[in-house]
Amino acid sequence: MKFLYSDTQDYVDPKYDFLTDSSPTGRERYWHDKYAHEIMDEAPYDGLLVSMSAIRQADGVASSKVRYSTAEEQRLLREGARRFLRFDGPKHRDLMLMGDCGAFAYVEHHDPAYSPSEVVEFYLDAEFTHGVSPDHVIFACDLQNPDAGDQSKDTLYRYEITLENARTFRNLVRNEGDLFEPMGAVQGWSPKSMADASAALVKMGYKYLAIGGLVPLKVDAIKQVLRAIRDKIGPEPKMHLLGFAKADHIGEFTGYGITSFDSTSPLIRAFKDEKSNYYMDNGRGGLDYYTAIRVPQAMDNARLMQGVKRGVFHAEDLQMREQRSLLLLREFDQGKRTVEETLEAIMDYSQFLVRGDATGVATQDRALATTRARIERTLQDRPWKHCDCAICRDVGVEVIIFRGSNRNKRRGFHNLGVYHRHLHRTLANQP
Ligand SMILES: [Zn+2]
Repeated sequence: MKFLYSDTQDYVDPKYDFLTDSSPTGRERYWHDKYAHEIMDEAPYDGLLVSMSAIRQADGVASSKVRYSTAEEQRLLREGARRFLRFDGPKHRDLMLMGDCGAFAYVEHHDPAYSPSEVVEFYLDAEFTHGVSPDHVIFACDLQNPDAGDQSKDTLYRYEITLENARTFRNLVRNEGDLFEPMGAVQGWSPKSMADASAALVKMGYKYLAIGGLVPLKVDAIKQVLRAIRDKIGPEPKMHLLGFAKADHIGEFTGYGITSFDSTSPLIRAFKDEKSNYYMDNGRGGLDYYTAIRVPQAMDNARLMQGVKRGVFHAEDLQMREQRSLLLLREFDQGKRTVEETLEAIMDYSQFLVRGDATGVATQDRALATTRARIERTLQDRPWKHCDCAICRDVGVEVIIFRGSNRNKRRGFHNLGVYHRHLHRTLANQP
């Protein structure tokens, strides 16, 4: 089973100076930066997924999640995505490079944002090894398997257009000489309708299906969907799970013939999750999570600056506590400070992140007690000391500090590495 990471232009500056919190003068974003597969000892994934909607602005789609500039889009299509992503070295050039439409970007629109012919051309220019037919997301999945007659016009249209596009897409790819492996996108409102769609795609000639719409579903619901599909199409067709948010539960999904899946969650959780920011193998076949220690840059923090503007906090005072937190964390790492001393310094600064809001003292006290307990556990266990990945070896305690993208994304890269090893160990231990 392959784990693909969905590219969102995640790279870090390898020469970032953590003591002064600055990059060298003349550093150019992307050109001097490194992707996870460049900075880690080995790629922390088995391939990359690139979404068209992250690269090309679709006509009439206001809420497009485009991250690439027009110049970057043009260069990616000219050089191919593998070269653009610097995923073309001897260690990476045989790894999977998959494209999809990124259908969530246009989920609120009546029609998919791109036509099948536009998508095929895009995939060919990007030189993907695999490409998903243009789909249209159906959100709800009713496990009771209601009939088509009970569905809204919009749901039925999404179902039909996804299949119709897949048929056109399949023929276009064939006419171009099958230069990449086409994957048929599956959407549906229930396990049964998704199984029916899968069977239709197999009939069209697809040997690899990409199952969509799983993002909001719970583990048991996803299992029902996969079971229904496998019962209908048999064990042969390959299967990819699009945007698999339950990646940490992968051990429960080994009996369904999943060929590949993509997820961003190990990276995203490094800085979006409230408490599970740093992954660690627990040595018992599972993952453990630690809370990263928030030491925000006072002058960049909206909440702190509001307090300064209202005259509740003083800027110099905040900066002093910020610097003291960083200093003690580094001294703690060198064995010169106790857990208690370090914790006090951090909480002395952290309180300002909580105080001053409108929730009242009792609620604030509870929030601070929770934060304190989480940080204490992180300090006591010092997980960064037990990781030998390239990130933790290189930056040490900085990886656990929740502060700016150079630390937060490095922690995300570390998580990807831990997750990747966890996945392959889990699979290796399966009967
Ligand atoms: Zn690490």
